[in-house]
Amino acid sequence: VKEKLALLKPNTHNTVNSLLDETAINLAKKVDEKIANGEPIGLLEGIPFGIKDVYMVEGTYTTASSTLLKNYKSAYTATAIKKLLDAGAIPLVKENCDSFGHGSSSENTIFGAVKNAKNPELVGGGSSGGSAVNVAKNFTVFSIGGDTGGSVRQPAGYNSIYGLKPTYGRISRYGLMAYASSTDCVGPIAKSIEDIRIVLNVMSGKDVKDQTTYASSKIEQNAILNAENIKTVGYFKNFVDSKAIDENIKKDFLSTIENIKAKGIEVKALDFFEADTLVSTYYTLAMAETASNLSRLDGTNYGNRIDADNLKESYSITRSENLSEETKRRIVGGNQVLSQGFSDEIYLKGLALRDQISQNFENDFNEVDIIISPVTPMAPPKIGDSLKDPLAMYLSDAYTVGFSLGQLPTLTVPNGTETGLQITAAKNNDELVLKFANFLK
Ligand code: GLN
Repeated sequence: VKEKLALLKPNTHNTVNSLLDETAINLAKKVDEKIANGEPIGLLEGIPFGIKDVYMVEGTYTTASSTLLKNYKSAYTATAIKKLLDAGAIPLVKENCDSFGHGSSSENTIFGAVKNAKNPELVGGGSSGGSAVNVAKNFTVFSIGGDTGGSVRQPAGYNSIYGLKPTYGRISRYGLMAYASSTDCVGPIAKSIEDIRIVLNVMSGKDVKDQTTYASSKIEQNAILNAENIKTVGYFKNFVDSKAIDENIKKDFLSTIENIKAKGIEVKALDFFEADTLVSTYYTLAMAETASNLSRLDGTNYGNRIDADNLKESYSITRSENLSEETKRRIVGGNQVLSQGFSDEIYLKGLALRDQISQNFENDFNEVDIIISPVTPMAPPKIGDSLKDPLAMYLSDAYTVGFSLGQLPTLTVPNGTETGLQITAAKNNDELVLKFANFLK
């Protein structure tokens, strides 16, 4: 714990203001005592981990990397985090991310851009960039990110580690600051499939505080060792044929397909929605949901209030001074697609498309056991580039957002392409995803 805290300290761009030193050291001492007394310890006991700064941890600042919540202290602890603490894992740090999860590069933050673990000139990915980089650099053993449209999978891919977006509802969202509630997922980031499995097991389960959760059974270690029941793998033809895909990513992905075939598995090309449709559907719904979710942040109950002549003015100044350009863009966009005259044409159409996307997945999983995809069409951009062109940044999410809309379990593994490979299965089949990842290793 001490060693990791010392490593974290100078790397302020991965972390936010609250390194949890004292708590961590005290917890570690207790584990030491247990070991000294010859008492048995659990799998996660004494294991240092990091937490994206969008999770409530009682008594710590939870800023969402925003000025608005710079001084906000959590009043309670998120269910997923509480379960890890109960299992004896040691929280070291709250981690830098795109403000409120809004972004794909971890540059939309008041704490400075997160630098890629492999090349500091490149972005760390987003929005859970600090979490991915901390794991990649061994500053934490695992970190808990949040994935609404790719925020665990994409930074995991950019830093060549594992990141899982579990089936929506497998892990409680209680205490995760809401971005787009219908796709928000708690997701572990780690250096091995085994670590992902252990952390997933601990965090999963029904929670009365999140009515979208469901009961799931533990994934046993030996359950993911034998992949004999995986007979057919699919991939989306249009992702590979897209003009937007980087030549190397395409080449590596195609050779991954050949490797899978060589292992005796049938690989099928599938039809899917175009990148533009996926990205517009996702952003329409995500912006609508975030406009609604963030409406409570007006300086009354939460947030750095700026007083003005009247209440309306105060709301307005508090929000315009304290929210980032990217977050404001999404709130304005979200309110527009929800407003009278636009909602039928845009928001309802987005919902209808989402149903079609889900239906498409259901049909696919009658034909294949697993779907694979590159994580991103392009390599990680240089720091500064994504900020210049928000639309290009949205389009870079083309391969991750579909699986979010489908609420499917999807894992990034650090092989297959330069930015990794996504492995997806039907809803609640998280075990199959880990199994196939293990098989490909
Ligand atoms: N980049 C996507 C967005 O900005 C995904 C973010 C996330 O999953 N939190 O919406």
